[in-house]
Amino acid sequence: MSASDQQFDERNTVFARENLVPGSPEFEEYYRDHPELLEIDNKIRSLPGEGSGMHTADYRMFGSAAMIMKEIGSPQMVDGEPSSVKIELPKSQITTKIKAYAKLLGADLVGISKLNPAFVYSHHGRLIYPEEPFGSKIKLDHRFAISLGFREDPEIVRTAPYPSEMIETGAVYLRSAVVSVVLAEYIRSLGFPARAHHFRNYQALPVPIAVDAGLGELGRCGFLITKEFGNCLRLSTVTTDLPLERDKPVDIGIQDFCNMCKICAEVCPSGSIPKGDKISVRGFERWKLDEVKCISYWNKIGSDCGMCIGSCPWSLPDKWWHRLSTNFATRSHLARVILLRLYPIIFGKYKPKPMPGWMEARRNNSQ
Ligand code: SF4
Ligand code: SF4
Repeated sequence: MSASDQQFDERNTVFARENLVPGSPEFEEYYRDHPELLEIDNKIRSLPGEGSGMHTADYRMFGSAAMIMKEIGSPQMVDGEPSSVKIELPKSQITTKIKAYAKLLGADLVGISKLNPAFVYSHHGRLIYPEEPFGSKIKLDHRFAISLGFREDPEIVRTAPYPSEMIETGAVYLRSAVVSVVLAEYIRSLGFPARAHHFRNYQALPVPIAVDAGLGELGRCGFLITKEFGNCLRLSTVTTDLPLERDKPVDIGIQDFCNMCKICAEVCPSGSIPKGDKISVRGFERWKLDEVKCISYWNKIGSDCGMCIGSCPWSLPDKWWHRLSTNFATRSHLARVILLRLYPIIFGKYKPKPMPGWMEARRNNSQ
């Protein structure tokens, strides 16, 4: 299968589809080509929707982060002309510098891969920036991708599906957006093309890029799972032509662990996470999340859910005993079996922690 056959069209993401406005030219065009999706997408649009399950004072925390991300997601902020003066350093030196600067800016994990063209969206699907119209073809032929990982607070994430999880997610996405935009600007100032990809403006898929860059592996839940933070992190990316040294994908035992563990699939209130085997998706073997069921649940409760993150054994707080056990789990099948047996005995069934005291009670549709 060629890379262009493997590319995903951003118009087909459920986030793009739910935002189509009935009667608009984009709506008419999309459902003329995909009539089979109209009924299910109308159902998603008819649900109470994002923020409806939260107190307005809390939802506006997420809204303010999203507004700033929109500003720094504009085509002028994520991309630009490189400086006409090239500053060149040996590859190993500039790679070390880029990684150190990304961490200094706030990234917790940094890895570098060759940019696989299959991980670039084929067409724009979001209706955010007029300069990137819905359905326009994406041309991104950078050679490298810098994957940036940002830790979420596991104590707050373990309040999922309460809305505090969504506030934390918005705050961490904002940090990831700022760092990607500054890093891309820095690389352009050295005279090389670079583009940031973050929550408000992606041209490339952050999760498979992070896998290629050695940050972790793709888990059953559809998220990246890292040795350091489990799936309790958010990602942004910078793509560039600056010559960099590449990292290698890692084997930390996640495929084996997720094969045996189905905790997230059992906890998921919408049945979105498969309990069975991987399937082939555009030529890649993976567990396939049902995004329609997942987002329908979000729109029903009126906030993000995130229970698949809060319940994952890899995402426990950063304590010595957790670091020790994940160290063993990355190395041996036997350790993975033992940990998986011990986990429910020690932690029991997933139960959300209470929301922090500064959050208001949620509204009725999320009870
Ligand atoms: S966010 Fe919630 S509904 Fe969606 S897959 Fe995770 S657990 Fe399931
Ligand atoms: S909860 Fe278990 S099955 Fe799900 S992603 Fe985490 S380790 Fe894998």
